[in-house]
Amino acid sequence: MRFEQLELIPPLLQSLAACGYDEPTPIQAQTIPLLLQGRDVIASAQTGTGKTAAFILPALQRLATHGTRPTPRRRGVGVPRVLVLAPTRELAQQVATQATRYGDQLRLRTVCLFGGAPYPPQYRDLERGVDILVATPGRLIDHVQRGRVDLSRLSMLVLDEADRMLDLGFQEDVERVCSLAPAERQTVLFSATFDGAAGRLAAALTRTAARIDVRTAHAAPVAIEQRVHFADDRAHKYRILDRLLAEVGEGQSIVFIATKRDAETLANKLRDEGHTAAALHGDMNQRERDRTVMRLRRGGVRTLVATDVAARGLDVPGISQVINFDLPRQAESYVHRIGRTGRAGASGIAVSLANASERGTLRQIERYTGSAIPARVLPGLEPSRREPTAPARGRPSYAPSGAGRKARPAAPPRRSSRRR
Ligand code: AMP
Repeated sequence: MRFEQLELIPPLLQSLAACGYDEPTPIQAQTIPLLLQGRDVIASAQTGTGKTAAFILPALQRLATHGTRPTPRRRGVGVPRVLVLAPTRELAQQVATQATRYGDQLRLRTVCLFGGAPYPPQYRDLERGVDILVATPGRLIDHVQRGRVDLSRLSMLVLDEADRMLDLGFQEDVERVCSLAPAERQTVLFSATFDGAAGRLAAALTRTAARIDVRTAHAAPVAIEQRVHFADDRAHKYRILDRLLAEVGEGQSIVFIATKRDAETLANKLRDEGHTAAALHGDMNQRERDRTVMRLRRGGVRTLVATDVAARGLDVPGISQVINFDLPRQAESYVHRIGRTGRAGASGIAVSLANASERGTLRQIERYTGSAIPARVLPGLEPSRREPTAPARGRPSYAPSGAGRKARPAAPPRRSSRRR
């Protein structure tokens, strides 16, 4: 299928061509026509599937065509017509960047509001006018209470990663925001799951919504090669990590680790060893986090050591390797983590380091993703205890140990080239 078949307007087609996208991803092919018709949509799709463009493209098109009446400019007050709520600053920024990129041929303004940043620049942004507002719930409520944002003209409301917003305790804020939007708006919810609270929220907010599910079990979002190395202890993990970082070549790596303190310690250790490494975790203020992500994007940081919360939504095309120094406690986080590589249709490698106490977690992840993660040994770094799935000693590093080399991709691999 081609983007033209989705009846997107020429300015959007031009932007998509400039991005190097050849064809819509499955979530885009299914969602865009429904949203262009004005339907409510409830969609299950993980990050990495192209879900952002699936709602931003129709939002831009509806603003550019239907919304010919620009909202009245009120001094000092932002009156958006589209609102995207996102759970984290990183995801909000990511959505806003894509909105700006796809809409660069249209005269529409996107503003991004998130907590942990000073208010005055956000006031100034709102004052210049806003068509699409992307915001985290808490900071948006602050702006509403200060009379800086008026949601009464919204024609489209998008809740991105709705389950995650609820997990982070934003339920009340989200409900409050929704109650301020006009009842006749169009509503779109994206969520990894619609079980429990997320399902109830979806039912309460939408009217005869179309349901779309592009997940294949919970498989990895794109063709990401996965491996596990068994380690005896942390010191052994460090030695394996050294080797993996030495072998990554041109690409950049993200190393996921369980705690903020360990993230700092490991980033310092790597720097002492001559790596351009930096930490990213929830204890850093927004400016520090932005600076680190910017350095990563520009290639000034080759290895990012991150905790889960900080790396959510991170989209850096140069990341060719994700290393789970500690396995995540929740299987769902595993899929999010490995989705940091293989961006924009590129291939990527996800390597997990597991010690004896993490074997149960590994099995849970395998059950969740529906595929076995093949074990590998690096010559000279074999674990002292032989694992049943580990290949025989002396095999070349990364030689496949049997079936299940790759996770089943959630969608057919996209054909577009990677943007650098
Ligand atoms: P998302 O799931 O929205 O986080 O998007 C994942 C990545 O896919 C982002 O880097 C997008 O720029 C990229 N992307 C979105 N749509 C397409 C497409 N149709 N073809 C290739 N890459 C895409």
